[in-house]
Order: sequence, then C-alpha cells, then structure tokens
Amino acid sequence: MVAELISVGTELLMGNIVNTNAAYLSRKLAAMGISVYYQSTVGDNKERLKKAIETAVDRADIVILSGGLGPTADDLTKETAAEVLGRDMYLDERSMERIREYFARIHRTNITENNWKQAMIPEKALILDNHNGTAPGIIMEEEGKTVILLPGPPNELQLMFEESVVPYLQKDNCKILYSKMVKVCGIGESRAETMIKDLMDAQTNPTIAPYAKTGEVHFRITALAESKEAGKELVKPVVKELKQRFGDAIYTTKEEVTLEEKIVKMLKKRGLTMVTAESCTGGMLASKLINVSGVSEIFKAGLVTYANEAKRELLGVQKKTLKKYGAVSRETAEEMVLGAAERYDADVSISITGIAGPEGGTEEKPVGLVYIGCYVCGELEIYECHFTGTREKIRETTTITALNLIRKMLLDY
Ligand code: ATP
Repeated sequence: MVAELISVGTELLMGNIVNTNAAYLSRKLAAMGISVYYQSTVGDNKERLKKAIETAVDRADIVILSGGLGPTADDLTKETAAEVLGRDMYLDERSMERIREYFARIHRTNITENNWKQAMIPEKALILDNHNGTAPGIIMEEEGKTVILLPGPPNELQLMFEESVVPYLQKDNCKILYSKMVKVCGIGESRAETMIKDLMDAQTNPTIAPYAKTGEVHFRITALAESKEAGKELVKPVVKELKQRFGDAIYTTKEEVTLEEKIVKMLKKRGLTMVTAESCTGGMLASKLINVSGVSEIFKAGLVTYANEAKRELLGVQKKTLKKYGAVSRETAEEMVLGAAERYDADVSISITGIAGPEGGTEEKPVGLVYIGCYVCGELEIYECHFTGTREKIRETTTITALNLIRKMLLDY
C-alpha cells in the first residue's frame, strides 16, 4: 500500500511554521508498513490544491491531506477534495451538534455563521470526530482509492489519527498489519542491503523496509494478515532468515530497545560494572549510556580526558607512551582503557582516542583515525578504525562502534 501526503497552508510555504504534521504522519505510516513515495505542500489556492490532489489520487492508494479544514474562506481542503472526487456537500446535523457541544465545553457562546462551514460534509464520507477542536476529519473512498482529510493543528491531527485513522487503515477488509523490527549494528547500510537483496527483491507479504541510522541499519518486516497470530506466523520465517544472515550483528528484534539499553541490560544480567574514558567523543559514549534509566547500577564513571595531562593524571597514561606513540595510538588507547578499569575497579572499560577533524590529521594519522580500547574481565582488545565524514559524524560513528564492540565482547560472557 502506498500513501501520499499533502500539507495545505500558505504559512507552511512561507516558512512561518515547520511541517511537523508531515513528519508525524510519515513516521506513523512507516511504522504501519505503509510506504510514502511523495509529500507535497500547497498554499491556500484552489487550483493548485486541486492539481495536487488529482496527481496524488492518480499515483497513490491513500492520500492524506492536513490543514485547511477550518471555518474561514481560505480553508479550501474539503471543498476541493470533494470536487476532485465529484461529490456534493451537505450540512451534517450530527457535526453541527458536535460543534455546538465543543463551544459549550470551552464556554464560548459566540458561534459565528462561518463555523457551520465545518459541518459541511461531502456525500458518502466517513466523518471522524475531533476531540480537540471543531473541524471534523473526513474519509472518502472512490474506486479503490482513499482520501483522508485531517485538521492542521497537530494536537487535533494526532489524536484523530491515533483514534480513527489507524483503526481504519488497519481494518483493510478485516486485515491487520503486524510488524517486527530487526536492528543491525556494525554492518554498513549498502552491505546490509546487499546481504538480503534477494529477499528484498522478492518481497510481497511480508515486506522488508530498511532504515539507515548512524552506525546502524534497522529492518522493519511488516505482514498484512487476518489476525495478529497470522501476522506473526508470516513475519517469523523472515526474521529467522535475517538472523541467519546477520548473525550476532543483530542486537535486538524489539522495536523499543536501543543499543545502549541492550548493553546496560547485558551488563546487569552478568553483574558487571563499567567505566568509560573518552577523548575525541568528549563524553558522547557516557551520555548515551546515561540515557538508559537504571544505569547507575552498573555505570561507575565517564571520564573525558582530552588533554595529554588529563590522560596522565586521571588514567595513568605514561608520559613516554604519549611522547613515543602520540595521544592517538594503539598504545595510548590500551593504557587509557586499563587505567580507567583499574582506578575505578570496573569489570568493563572502553577507551576512545582519535582525530575527529576537520583539522589535526597527518598523512600517517589522518582525520577519522580512531583507536577504541575494550576491556572485559581481563580480556583486552584494541581496535583501529577509519571513519569518514564531518567532525560530528565521526564522533557519532565512533560512539556507536564502541558500544557495538563492547556488546560483541560481552556475548562471550
Ligand atoms: P482549524 O480547524 O484550526 O482552522 P485547519 O484544519 O484549517 O485548522 P490550518 O488553518 O491549515 O488548519 O492550520 C491551523 C494551525 O495548525 C496552523 O496555524 C499551525 O499552527 C498548525 N498547522 C497546520 N498545518 C501544520 C503542519 N503541516 N505542521 C504543523 N503544524 C501545522
């Protein structure tokens, strides 16, 4: 199923407001396994809006419009959508009643004549109640296509979408969408996609949709089925196949679990404590871990040792090591990771030292060179990594990579 979004409002085109409705709707539709191929924004102009609706109806199964359902003359969405689908409008008694009730609830007595415009409904439309405002939402079906009109204010749109549109879309002739997420770390986006290209090429039901994040690739597997159980059965073999192909690069199949949560859980389960010693990531790694509630049980300290002096004083890195090999070296990463573990009596320790750029690189030690030290209960690994991108990107990729390397070492414990 393919959906298309049309956001209506001159304010959006002028840049006066940010189009959060489109981001919200896209996110929600993706989570339901519904693809969005196009989004467009149109001002309060009848002709252009009409064209946009015609184009969208032509190429998508579901067209969702947001905004322009209000009482004023420049609110044109309903009239225009009805016109495109060839429907007349009528004054709906129940919608009038709901508008009256809404005004009474907010203690407003001055219902102006134009408010009744909001009770004008296209023929044969499904009316969606608006519990946060007056403009009802509308669903119209025509020759296998669905056109959904939602009010612009985000609090009205979101409540209506959750309450009415999600159940409507999931209904799809009594079918439901069941989905599962497979989160992969340590394999780049294009390689990950290549590894399952045959599955992606052959997909019909369930579908496999990749989402690339910094250092991670998530795959959403979505099945359209008669029931939740039937959906689970359809999704299960695909998840199994992905597990076989990606192996321990998969850190979770639970949508809500993040990489740092997974690591904190692993440490808690094993009764291990942890410390971090960072240079170029400047505390990003510690901050990620501290995102997880309850981390205090296992997290002892997060040190940001940027200058050589701090590496020496706080971690016991030797002066001669820094002089001979430099701050960005395998040897310094090793002394950092061991020094942190020893000083804070931790079972697990991670150190990071690298060149995030854009300045500071040399031929021998270019921008993006990072050493990550991982120590788990007496076992030590030092990894040399070469990352690319902006300073921010290098720091983020380093953080995710460090988390993933320690996760992999913990798998053996
Ligand atoms: P109302 O019933 O309040 O008249 P409406 O359906 O006519 O709503 P608009 O008049 O287009 O909607 O927009 C009302 C307000 O909703 C805007 O001023 C803006 O604050 C917010 N809004 C509209 N569209 C968007 C959007 N795409 N993203 C975020 N906010 C939006």
